[in-house]
Amino acid sequence: MTLKIYNTLTRSVDELVPGGIKKEQISDYPPVTIYSCGPTVYSYAHIGNFRTFMFNDFLRRYLRFRGFRVDHAMNITDVDDKTIAGSIREGMTLREYTEKYTAIFYEDLATLNIEKAEHNPRATESIDEMVNILRLIDSRGILYEKEGSLYFNIAKFAGYGKLSNLDSSGIKAGARYDADEYEKEDVRDFALWKAPRDNEPCWDTPYGPGRPGWHIECSAMIRKIFGSTIDIHTGGVDLIFPHHENEIAQSEAAYGERFVRHWIHVEHLLVDGAKMSKSAGNFYTLRDLLSKGYSPRSIRYLLMSAHYRKQLNFTLEGIRQADQALERIDNMIVRLKDVRNESGNSTELHDLTAGMKARFVEAVDNDLNISAGLAVFFDFITAVNTLISADKLSTADAGMVMDSLREIDSVLGFIFYGNDENDADSGRIDALVRERIEAKNNRNFARADEIRDLLRDEGVILEDTKDGTRWKRKKS
Ligand code: AMP
Ligand code: ZN
Repeated sequence: MTLKIYNTLTRSVDELVPGGIKKEQISDYPPVTIYSCGPTVYSYAHIGNFRTFMFNDFLRRYLRFRGFRVDHAMNITDVDDKTIAGSIREGMTLREYTEKYTAIFYEDLATLNIEKAEHNPRATESIDEMVNILRLIDSRGILYEKEGSLYFNIAKFAGYGKLSNLDSSGIKAGARYDADEYEKEDVRDFALWKAPRDNEPCWDTPYGPGRPGWHIECSAMIRKIFGSTIDIHTGGVDLIFPHHENEIAQSEAAYGERFVRHWIHVEHLLVDGAKMSKSAGNFYTLRDLLSKGYSPRSIRYLLMSAHYRKQLNFTLEGIRQADQALERIDNMIVRLKDVRNESGNSTELHDLTAGMKARFVEAVDNDLNISAGLAVFFDFITAVNTLISADKLSTADAGMVMDSLREIDSVLGFIFYGNDENDADSGRIDALVRERIEAKNNRNFARADEIRDLLRDEGVILEDTKDGTRWKRKKS
């Protein structure tokens, strides 16, 4: 079986070939080099952003599950139009301002059980490499200066538009853009380096003082970390144009070699049919949801369970459905722990777990189709429950099922995470916690206290924090 993933550049589902050389033995492959556009740290990330970051986490976990090694970088965009505007608004230095939101971002990743990448560069630490790109592009005659800013002359780069499938007839030769973000219909020369403006931070370079455009930052960090062509570049679909198109143009023009083998773009998280975004105001941060009593585990399940190339409509009902799915898993774990039979049918169990893993891999190898993979996994749960009900499972068999759950959880990260060590009651407790929050909001304090007392009698302690209500079991 081979892992195939849709490549935005070729517009086909291509085999993943790390290092670009086909080999017979997967174990011989070099690490898969991955770069993911990270957050622009000007505010709290919303859960639309976390859909994309969750995908990155799933990708790296699945690659490891399939025997690949992974070398992954995710940057922090700590200088761009939005971070500069925010720091000026809040009267902080750019560094103070972006550090604040970077720390919050890493906390949120940990809350969602998203692994940290091997490299976490900040854009402002790669200014030297950006200057190097400017120098190389300049030496090829593709760069020009206008009022202290430097622009990329897209008419001089033959491959411009290959990622986003631009119709070159729309290209307005000689017209320029200073903003980092603009629409496909407005394709123009873009700013590589921006002239200093009042109040804006700036860096001295042989080209004069200024600060980077957003696109050159990723090109520079990728070169600095990986040195040459990388295997995979990821981001949300909104980054295909202009960000990734411009990254390709700068990097390929500067270094004269292929920039990225495999481009992977994640579809949007929607709210009522529209992209969740800060500018539209239709967003939830992770902390908004936690303060309503939803658990990070359910949010992880929800964000993870849809295929990355399908839009995902976000609803609170969707989180409740995630709770129910998790409850099915938790219930089976409790039943497994209750198995007392010494004799069972280990051969049948062995075939069942091996079959589940093989079918899971077959499903997910097909363009990372996790929803098909989860269907296989839930069929397995049904089959195990049937065996338990028929009293056909031994304690050794139950152990085998637990081992396979741990293996699959290395990809999913929600079976054992945040359920208080397989607390079978987490779904019910989460629901009570939510009911208590609603009761408090409705000033029904009697019911709120009743719920707290009820849970306390069960050994569950509630902690009201500024980020919401958490619960934990009292250690005996
Ligand atoms: P930003 O912090 O705006 O640079 O975005 C960080 C990442 O989140 C990028 O990869 C975006 O493409 C992605 N993103 C932004 N909005 C959404 C959304 N509604 N659904 C999924 N991904 C998104
Ligand atoms: Zn980027």
